[in-house]
Amino acid sequence: MMSNSTITIVENPNKKPKPQTKDIAFGRTFTDHMFVMDYEEGKGWHEPRIVPYESLTLDPAAMIFHYGQTVFEGLKAYRTEDDRILLFRPEKNLERLNLSSDRLSIPPIDEEKVMEYLIELIRLEQDWVPDFEGTSLYIRPFIIGTEPSLAVAPSKTYKFMVILSPVGPYFKGGIHPVQINVEDQYTRAVKGGTGMAKTAGNYSAAYQAQAKAYQQGKADVLWLDGVEKRYIEEVGSMNIFFKIDGEVVTPMLSGSILKGITRMSILELLNDWGIPVTERRISIEELYEAHEQGKLEEAFGTGTAAVISPVGELNWLGRQMTINDGEIGPLSQKLYDTITGIQRGHVEDTKGWTVNV
Ligand SMILES: *Cc1c(COP(=O)(O)O)cnc(C)c1O
Repeated sequence: MMSNSTITIVENPNKKPKPQTKDIAFGRTFTDHMFVMDYEEGKGWHEPRIVPYESLTLDPAAMIFHYGQTVFEGLKAYRTEDDRILLFRPEKNLERLNLSSDRLSIPPIDEEKVMEYLIELIRLEQDWVPDFEGTSLYIRPFIIGTEPSLAVAPSKTYKFMVILSPVGPYFKGGIHPVQINVEDQYTRAVKGGTGMAKTAGNYSAAYQAQAKAYQQGKADVLWLDGVEKRYIEEVGSMNIFFKIDGEVVTPMLSGSILKGITRMSILELLNDWGIPVTERRISIEELYEAHEQGKLEEAFGTGTAAVISPVGELNWLGRQMTINDGEIGPLSQKLYDTITGIQRGHVEDTKGWTVNV
């Protein structure tokens, strides 16, 4: 056991074999260690430690199992060609974790300290960052309420954990546009709800709509606002952008959609490049009209998983539209190349977005 003033590290004596191929299924393989820290009312967050990856023992009454008091994050560590390991704007993930926690009545973490713990964990697990093209090490921080109590009230104890999982490229056989179903029945989130938080219930509540999309041979769901079923919100776990008549538009942050870090980065890049971009309400009718008039040039989803996921086709109430002949558009391609280039260290990071591990 090693210990410096802040963090305890217990080495795992039984190291697992690492994946030997680039086709690593998402979220099925985990590394040898995990980070854990506990919270107790009156004591705060304490006992930060890196320990062997193992199962948890929790009381069946632990509050996470009953009322879903939990939040999570998702980011990646990338290996560069010259063998450095980079994180992409990780401070934004910790900032958003605290925003999500606030919505779920979970006590905040110390973002700076947790950044140090995170880097310590990735350093220890650096051999797990794969070096095949398009691969990365997915980082999943999360917090759960652990107090054994059925009272409908915030937990008095929590666990913050970080687990790591090597992942393959999002697109097998290169980036390609996807077909998406515009959901007209189910609602993901409404203003005042939990849509702006990365919290478990938002995702399990979307499975029915996801299953519907899959049955129709579509890759994902495009959500409309929960009140009028009219304004575009976001895709499964991606924000959405459209290029209409030379201008880029994306739904404004209304409280029901996630404040994506990829979204934020794209807005900054477009501004730098002098490409007009607006955050506003976009109705699904407006989109279909723009398409009929030949003005809808490109559509793409954005998120850590795919970075850019071009949308080749939308289906809304049986009305099908093909966007840019089902091909990736030039702006989508440029954004993809720039962001993945920065993340993998072969495009100069003039924005100070990357953190060396
Ligand atoms: C995580 C997530 C996103 C994308 O956020 P990034 O920070 O860009 O990865 C968008 N929408 C939802 C619902 C999400 O969970």
